[in-house]
Amino acid sequence: MNKNNYNLAIFEKSIIDIKKEKSDFGSEIAFVGYSNSGKSTLINVLTNQKKLARISKVPGRTQSINIFKVSSKVRLVDLPGYGYARVPESIRLQLKHIVFQYLKLRKCLKGLVMLIDIRCSIKNLDETVINLAKLRHIPMFILLNKSDKVSFEKRKEQLHIMKNNQLVLSHNIQVELFSSLKSIEMNSLRDKIGNWICKIV
Ligand code: GDP
Repeated sequence: MNKNNYNLAIFEKSIIDIKKEKSDFGSEIAFVGYSNSGKSTLINVLTNQKKLARISKVPGRTQSINIFKVSSKVRLVDLPGYGYARVPESIRLQLKHIVFQYLKLRKCLKGLVMLIDIRCSIKNLDETVINLAKLRHIPMFILLNKSDKVSFEKRKEQLHIMKNNQLVLSHNIQVELFSSLKSIEMNSLRDKIGNWICKIV
């Protein structure tokens, strides 16, 4: 698997109930995080395609798991964002359920990339995901996204705080600054994520 293959990614399908999926083969790398943390944008950056993840975001699909095929054996997965404040509680619960069912049951899930807005802290649902990944021995990478939105000092401070978070430390999770919008210094990280994915799939 070559990291440049990500450019070839195509939208495969949207699913809601992972239990109804008959096939569970190959390797999936899932992007997880609060709603609006930048998952879709990152998938576009990683695959060098401006509209890949957004194309799948037609109304009705936003609350589903969107799968992008990279090769016959590798897929990228855009999970619904959890914790979106502007939807009714019932939908919030449903989204959470979709995400956690996927994380608990999907056998071909080989790696998780968690996005956290650098202006936020690690919240409850992120912690639940981290614990779940640990339980299933799924490798994880945390990106402090939208780092272009804060000053250099704030970036350093947040990186330090996150790296020293008890849960992150105890699970030995790599944390990096990220920005999908400002590509300065981000190409190397793009490669790094690509290399990391290549290593685990
Ligand atoms: P998702 O809900 O997690 O899939 O988030 P989206 O990818 O749809 O991004 C949510 C919003 O954040 C969009 O308006 C993006 O343009 C913006 N966004 C995503 N990544 C970045 C980033 O690195 N920097 C900045 N400034 N905005 C970003």
